[in-house]
Amino acid sequence: MTLPLTSPASTVVFADLDDTLFQTLRKLPGADPATLTPMTVDSRGQPHSHATPAQMALLDLLAAPHVTLVPVTGRDAAAMARVTLPLRSWRVLDHGLTILTPAGTPDPEWAAQVRAQLAPLQEPLRAGTGAIAPHAARLGARLTSHAAHGTPFMTVLKHPDADPAVLAELQDRLEAAHGPDHPLRVIANANNVSLLPRHLGKAAAVRYLLGTHLSGAALTLGLGDSVSDLPFMDECDFALTPRRGQLMRTLRALTLPQR
Ligand SMILES: [Mg+2]
Repeated sequence: MTLPLTSPASTVVFADLDDTLFQTLRKLPGADPATLTPMTVDSRGQPHSHATPAQMALLDLLAAPHVTLVPVTGRDAAAMARVTLPLRSWRVLDHGLTILTPAGTPDPEWAAQVRAQLAPLQEPLRAGTGAIAPHAARLGARLTSHAAHGTPFMTVLKHPDADPAVLAELQDRLEAAHGPDHPLRVIANANNVSLLPRHLGKAAAVRYLLGTHLSGAALTLGLGDSVSDLPFMDECDFALTPRRGQLMRTLRALTLPQR
């Protein structure tokens, strides 16, 4: 068999970061620290999240010249600045609400679309946040408001000890008030519960990039660990998820009839 001499077809990989390409040591019980590669630093500049040898091998594969790696993360610009993994192309931050160009500046067209779509969500976001605030205070949870392009888009609830009972109560209350027809939705993971736009997020950002600056790829891959990553992974030709992630656990728990 003769290998083709032409360069390989272009591939775009959209990848969630935390718990997909690296994770904190707490998520790596029993791992030999000598085998881990630091990938982020904390606010004091100390190594915080690490990649396993398997994640390093995956990153090596994604570093091929015909592959464009686009992070798709909930991190904001400050948290993104603590990621030491070299990222040279487009970057999706703030759960999709910010897209940075390869030069590192916000894509102005996306920013304008986001601002327009956030305007009618300001009142529901204020109402939802106001309703949960007393419960957060009673349960000792911290409530923070996050903005993109100068406009609030998300409320995040965290508990100092990540108490699962506290986070579950806050999640239940938020979900009861924000059903499937509500313009805001709730996402949850092991250490926070967040209220954010239902139709404006990682998937919309990936769709925008595929329709504009990154159109024409022969192959697109979506990498993510969380159920909330599924919509953006579903915009890609193939999806890849780490073992022991939230998405994999959810899939394993499904019992489908064997036909
Ligand atoms: Mg993740």
